[in-house]
Amino acid sequence: MRLFFALWPDASTQLEWERAVAPLQATLGGRRIPAANLHLTLAFLGEVRGDRMNELLRLGDDLDRSPVFLRLDRIEYWKKPGLACLRPTEVPLVLERLAGQLQTGLSLAGFAVEHRHFKPHVTVSRDVPIATASLPVWPVLEWSAPVIALVRSRPGPAGADYAVLHEWPLG
Ligand code: ATP
Ligand code: MG
Repeated sequence: MRLFFALWPDASTQLEWERAVAPLQATLGGRRIPAANLHLTLAFLGEVRGDRMNELLRLGDDLDRSPVFLRLDRIEYWKKPGLACLRPTEVPLVLERLAGQLQTGLSLAGFAVEHRHFKPHVTVSRDVPIATASLPVWPVLEWSAPVIALVRSRPGPAGADYAVLHEWPLG
């Protein structure tokens, strides 16, 4: 199964984000990500054998669960993947640490992990046709992430279909 770790918003936050970005999305064009799919990826695992689930659950149990507070204050356009995403201008140290701790744990356990620098983002549109500069989001979306989630991703007719398999509360 295709798995990833993410900071997962509750449904009301997902709707708040969807409403906040709708006007900008309309300007940018592309394919909007449905509210229920909005999330912030911490570590992408790709294909994982089912019998390795326990290792991932133990790894999740060992993570530092300090509160993560974010101010999502801009929309960025990323040219190569052709996407638009919500981002915090300031990346809190606790979030850097959490992603680092996950990456280290995963890599020590022999999972293939991404080695690019962690750039926290919430993808809101894909296949965005026109290049744009960053746009400010006002009012800023202030968010205390409620949980770390281990999520399964399956291809669906209207984009990926996600299922949260396990949650670890933060704070
Ligand atoms: P789709 O690929 O069907 O358009 P998706 O990208 O949302 O949808 P997945 O490819 O399963 O679904 O990815 C799940 C999450 O992991 C998404 O947040 C995605 O941006 C992220 N992700 C996917 N591949 C990588 C990667 N190689 N490195 C880092 N993050 C990734
Ligand atoms: Mg993908």
